[in-house]
Order: sequence, then structure tokens, then C-alpha cells
Amino acid sequence: TVDVRGIHKSFGPLQVLRGVDLQVRTGEVAALLGPSGSGKSTLLRVVNQLERADRGWITIDGELIGYRRSGTRLHELKEKEVLRQRTQVGFVFQNFNLFPHLTVLENLVEAPLAARRAPRGELLAQAHTLLARVGLSDKADAYPRQLSGGQQQRVAIARALALKPKVLLFDEPTSALDPELVDEVLDVIRDLARAGTTMIVVTHEMEFAREVADTVVFMDDGVIVEQGPPSEVLDHPKHPRARAFLSKVL
Ligand code: ATP
Ligand code: MG
Repeated sequence: TVDVRGIHKSFGPLQVLRGVDLQVRTGEVAALLGPSGSGKSTLLRVVNQLERADRGWITIDGELIGYRRSGTRLHELKEKEVLRQRTQVGFVFQNFNLFPHLTVLENLVEAPLAARRAPRGELLAQAHTLLARVGLSDKADAYPRQLSGGQQQRVAIARALALKPKVLLFDEPTSALDPELVDEVLDVIRDLARAGTTMIVVTHEMEFAREVADTVVFMDDGVIVEQGPPSEVLDHPKHPRARAFLSKVL
């Protein structure tokens, strides 16, 4: 379970997150929707400790993120511990962010090797299994620039899975893709959902959200104004801002 409580985050005078509460249970998928600038990416970045919250706390399977408790006090974790926690959260970006100078296979092995998860041979075997899972067994030795956007994004998903994260975060995983490449990426995410992967997916693909999400979460101006099953939030939104947004995108 990912448990987000009372998260606040400002950049200078700009309050971007103004008290976000969100629970995503193990095996569930949350689709995060909302207008541009509402704070969706910032929320994901706080969960993955790419940004530090000003207030509030997050636990993943009960483990406090970014801090260590001693008695009643909280201490910021050291960099090494932050990196270890970050390996428990997979992040898939809009723009793939593969290592351009590494082959597909090397991209999948790099992070778990650095984290000393297993011997190289074992990680290579795992990488081949993951490539099969995203339908790219024949691309193991290709470089990212030799792949289509959809293929690159599928490699990025496999790479995120290579660390066996407790939760996978997706930030508009298909919005940089040509339309004809969107489905192959959504299909992979669909399969992950079916396999019980815990995920938070920022997406503008409403039909996809309806199909895979257990919970649809609507964010506006730094707070979650509505959340619930897709059929409720997408078909009968109660909050005026959610109604206005959905009437435009549906
Ligand atoms: P979009 O749908 O366009 O991706 P979003 O909901 O993901 O929007 P965020 O990227 O979280 O929105 O940004 C929320 C607000 O915070 C925006 O006004 C943005 O300009 C601002 N912001 C984000 N990151 C920073 C930063 N590092 N420094 C200053 N302002 C930032
Ligand atoms: Mg964003």
C-alpha cells in the first residue's frame, strides 16, 4: 500500500500541492487525472523522492519515505538510504529516458547491477524474461535510437520492472507517442494491471483509465477534489472542476 498523507509542496511562493491524501492498495491501479499545472507530476516526483515535501508523509508498505524515526523525532535519510528506497519505486517518464549509449539489454541490467541485486548472469536472464514480457525479445542488442517511440517506452517499462519495485509510477507514458504507437504501450500497462502490479498512472487516455483503474483520482490546483471507481468519477463527477475537465476530454 502506498499511503500519502497531507502532502504540501511549494516552489517559492507557488503552492503546488496543498494537502494531498491518497491511498493505493497493493495490487491496485490509480489513474490520476487533472488539468495542466494541477500538480500531478509533482505528486509522483514526491513519491519517488525526486522532490521533498514541505509537510506531510508517505509510507510504502508501512516504510516511511525519506525519513527515519527515532523516538518521537524524524531524521532525514542519508543519500544512500534514499537511493535504496527509490529502487522500490519504478518511474516511467513521458520521454522514455533510456540510457542512449547502452543497448536495450544493458539498460535493463544497469540499475539492478549497481544495486547489487544479483549476479550479472542472473540479471541478464531476468532482462530477457522482461523483454519477452513487453514483446521485444528481438531487440536486446539494439540501441534506443534504433527503436520506435513505442518500443522505447516498452523498454522503459521493462527497465522499471527490473528493480522489482513495490509500485510503478507512470507520468503520461503515451503522450509523447505518435497515435499509432499508443496502444502497444497501453497493452503492456494493461497486462501489468492484470498481473496485480500496484500502479499510479497519470494519463489523458480516458477509456484506458476506465478499463484498468480501480480508482480514478481527480486533482485540481494542488488537491484531490474527487476520487472513486471509474464509473462514478468519469460518468457522474460531482465536483464542478472535475465536471468541466471531463466534459472537455471525454
Ligand atoms: P501537466 O498536466 O502539464 O503535466 P501537472 O499537473 O503535472 O501538469 P506539475 O508539473 O506538477 O503539473 O506542476 C504544477 C505547478 O508547479 C506548475 O505551475 C509548474 O509550473 C510548477 N512547477 C513544477 N515543478 C517546478 C519547479 N521545479 N520549480 C518551480 N515550479 C515548478
Ligand atoms: Mg505533468
